[in-house]
Amino acid sequence: MYSVVRRLLLTLSRSARAQSFVLHFPPARRVARRFVAGETLEDALEVIARLNAQGMAATLDHLGENVTTPEEAEEAAQAYVDALEAIHARGLDSGVSVKLTHLGLDLGEDVAYENLRRIVAKAAEVERFVRIDMESSAYTDITLALYRRLRREFDNVGTVVQAYLYRTPQDVAQLIEEGIANLRLVKGAYDEPPSIAIQQRERIREAFFALLRQMWAPEARARGSFAAIGSHDEAIIQYAIALARRLDLSPREYEFQFLYGIRRDRAETLVRDGYRMRIYVPFGSQWYPYFMRRLAERPANLLFFLRALVGG
Ligand SMILES: Cc1cc2nc3c(=O)[nH]c(=O)nc-3n(C[C@H](O)[C@H](O)[C@H](O)COP(=O)(O)OP(=O)(O)OC[C@H]3O[C@@H](n4cnc5c(N)ncnc54)[C@H](O)[C@@H]3O)c2cc1C
Repeated sequence: MYSVVRRLLLTLSRSARAQSFVLHFPPARRVARRFVAGETLEDALEVIARLNAQGMAATLDHLGENVTTPEEAEEAAQAYVDALEAIHARGLDSGVSVKLTHLGLDLGEDVAYENLRRIVAKAAEVERFVRIDMESSAYTDITLALYRRLRREFDNVGTVVQAYLYRTPQDVAQLIEEGIANLRLVKGAYDEPPSIAIQQRERIREAFFALLRQMWAPEARARGSFAAIGSHDEAIIQYAIALARRLDLSPREYEFQFLYGIRRDRAETLVRDGYRMRIYVPFGSQWYPYFMRRLAERPANLLFFLRALVGG
């Protein structure tokens, strides 16, 4: 049942008609506010300032994906440049997270690269970090290729790997070998076929554990690998803490990352216990696909959403 609902929501996340319905439906906007910091940069900066005051860092995501014109892609890049300037001007502890399809990847590799390069160069200037999110498997190769290209010039950039893909341990091994394994580890949020992705939750979790062991093996650490643990799963959090202790890693040598609005109490207790926590803060008017992926992750969110719709 869960996997049927999940697949349906992920299919709807790509539907223009469903998008137009949900975007214009006030109760949906209210529910989305639980996961999205707001529609404007100012909203997001206020949220980040509050998180910083609670001892948490942030990574800012200007929502948007799969743009269809070069102008839209350039606008997205400019919005990130403006955001980085504002983060710097206010002295906020935040980097940014970007999606390559938001920067024009569907229009050509060079379009996305030039836009991404502009953002990373600005981030380098203001000493902030850029994380390239990982999208669906159609983009894995190109995302890793553009990441490698950027790393020749910059070191304030990292990317993401998804534990559910069978290819990931191989990708991680290569990135470690090249000395550029600055990675956020996640389970993976897209609807991928069984031929390339693990489907069972328990096995995805085990694959995540294995990635942590790989990233924290002595050779990997010697080559400067850095893991950001992008998961709210308590079993993964506990596993990471226990493994780090066993390997004598200090809590400064890795970080946890949560999505805005999810498990806020747990984020606070981790900070209280001395762990580094970074919150992924999305903002903007293009919140629909992001919001649908969050609903797909947890049936309880869907119930909450439906109740809000019924309740008006
Ligand atoms: C910082 C960050 C960045 C990410 N970046 C990417 C990316 O670039 N590419 C990508 O494919 N995926 C990304 N993801 C999403 C990720 O792949 C998973 O889909 C998502 O994190 C849910 O998996 P989980 O590990 O939290 O475990 P789950 O088993 O899904 O969740 C564990 C527990 O966390 C809570 N929880 C989890 N999700 C929700 C939710 N939506 N609403 C309410 N409670 C919830 C629940 O208590 C749940 O029982 C990112 C996730 C995080 C945290």
